[in-house]
Amino acid sequence: MVSQTLKSEKMHYGLDIGGTKIELAIFNSQLERVASWRLPTPQDDYQALLSTIAQMVVEADKKSNIKGTVGIGFPGYLDNQGRSVSANIASVNGQFIVKDTCAKLGRAVAFENDVKAFALSEARGGAAQSKDNALGVVVGTGFAGGLCIEGQLYKSKQNVSCEFGHVSLPAILQQRYQFPLRQCGCGLVGCVEEYLAGPGLLWMCSHFNTNYTSVPMLVKALRDNEAKAIEVMDIYIDCLGCYFAQLTLMYDPDIIVLGGGLSNIAEIYSRLPQVMQKYFFNGVIAPPVVAAMFGDSSGVRGAAILGRDNADNAAVQN
Ligand SMILES: [Zn+2]
Repeated sequence: MVSQTLKSEKMHYGLDIGGTKIELAIFNSQLERVASWRLPTPQDDYQALLSTIAQMVVEADKKSNIKGTVGIGFPGYLDNQGRSVSANIASVNGQFIVKDTCAKLGRAVAFENDVKAFALSEARGGAAQSKDNALGVVVGTGFAGGLCIEGQLYKSKQNVSCEFGHVSLPAILQQRYQFPLRQCGCGLVGCVEEYLAGPGLLWMCSHFNTNYTSVPMLVKALRDNEAKAIEVMDIYIDCLGCYFAQLTLMYDPDIIVLGGGLSNIAEIYSRLPQVMQKYFFNGVIAPPVVAAMFGDSSGVRGAAILGRDNADNAAVQN
């Protein structure tokens, strides 16, 4: 039950469409999460996906006693014609998903890449609050980011800015560790994501002949001072530090905020600044690298902020 006092309050819904689940979280005007739930993602049927989104929003309106604003994060991007592209949810490819959801829900809907929504959430009241330039990086099943400048997401022509998981791993690392050029799911070879995302770290475990088959197993071995685990993590942190140094030379952020499964490995934060420093020319200082404040909630929170901003902008234009 939602209390009577919330009746006149504006409510903001953030949705996060994942490969297997859609989460909807209701936020109040102070961006406090008041309710959330999940439903399975209809993966192969676009109309069923739209219906599930509509069903969740109708339910949210009922719980809130008001028509809330809607922002949606998804693992993909809108091309320069406005069509959705996603490697994880095949049914949305080539669809005008913003237009279709707006029509279905009878209100303005903001759409954004889920990692960019994460970066925005951390820049607005999160770990990067009050920083002019904040780079959010999600290191989980994938490797991607978003740049916020003075609390606003950097927008670009083809919406592919910060897709730096699909840039080639630096040659200095390829050569030093004798890595093969791995085939990436995006069609390119040697992409950073294939080495530095969670599955990439597990690939390193097998490449360096260890028996660690999961990240928790590797982290436990690291904390038990197993030599093999220390060796693999040294290499991984060297690669991550080198790449973060390169990102620093490209974006020069005040702070880098980490999210995703690997952001829970505490050892990364204590070692990274020193490692990054090795890859700078004289006079450059590594920015702080910190963990996300809202963790797994940052995706829906960022989407809700985008939905709120979008509705505010629409109100100003009318
Ligand atoms: Zn790639």
